[in-house]
Amino acid sequence: MKPTIIVHGGAWNIPDGLVEAHLKGCEAAAEKGYDEFVRGESAVQAVVEAVAVMEDDPVFDAGIGSVLNQSGQVELDAIVMEGGSLMSWAVAALQHMKNPVRIARKVLEDTSVSLFAGDGALRFAVEKGFEPCTEQDLLVGHQLEDYREFLRTGVLRTREFFEGGCDTVGACAADTEGRVASATSTGGIPRKPAGRVGDSPLVGCGAYADDVAGAASATGWGEKIMAVLLAKTAIDALKLHGDPAEACREAVMVMKSRVNGLGGIIMVDSKGTVGYHHNTPRMAFGFIEGRTGSRKIAIGV
Ligand code: ASP
Repeated sequence: MKPTIIVHGGAWNIPDGLVEAHLKGCEAAAEKGYDEFVRGESAVQAVVEAVAVMEDDPVFDAGIGSVLNQSGQVELDAIVMEGGSLMSWAVAALQHMKNPVRIARKVLEDTSVSLFAGDGALRFAVEKGFEPCTEQDLLVGHQLEDYREFLRTGVLRTREFFEGGCDTVGACAADTEGRVASATSTGGIPRKPAGRVGDSPLVGCGAYADDVAGAASATGWGEKIMAVLLAKTAIDALKLHGDPAEACREAVMVMKSRVNGLGGIIMVDSKGTVGYHHNTPRMAFGFIEGRTGSRKIAIGV
């Protein structure tokens, strides 16, 4: 068996003009994750480095390219989960850092804590040698313009809920022994209130991984994803049906029917078969499936 990696770059109404950039970003991330496997690294390392590629890519709402909150700040959420130990490590409402997923991974290596939030998360990151950055370093395009205007006037331009993108990123991987991992990273939703934490860094919501079945990463309307524990619901469906595509479809259907939620999910089972589903107009994703040799980079409509 060969390893498998699947990544996503958000589920929303991705405009035509951004499609190409999303495809390129997903491809680069999937390749980076797969390369980690080729170098003999673990599923955890594959998902962390795949997600870090998308955090560094300004097209996505994670790391560089994140959205501003109502107070003109960038607050980042990220999680990593390992399917063997069922342990997850996360940071929430973290400011002034470019790669929250690497900091979540550091939580894994260094502490008995599962989730660090706010100033404590920043202090932890600095103690571990991560270099803080400025707000401007994280902002691009109209987010940067808005920030500069906010500094000048103290007023933040109002924007539509989904305007400016909700391109949360995530990755799921299975190694040759059936060990799985998942990771998710986001700047959250545009103009969220300061301190608002979404589903992404919460275990079972934004991500879940269990070697007995597989790994999942979710994206979309955070409060709705939290209501149905989307990632855990998808893994439970996988345990029941054994089919990743069907499990993803069922989980999104549960979210839609129970709380009228919008979003998407990607998955890999421990045999290395991928699945994905979304009920938003579009979702960007890409995978390299070792078992079948199949490879796809797409915007699902
Ligand atoms: N789920 C993220 C949040 O609510 C947003 C997204 O996935 O685009 O923070």
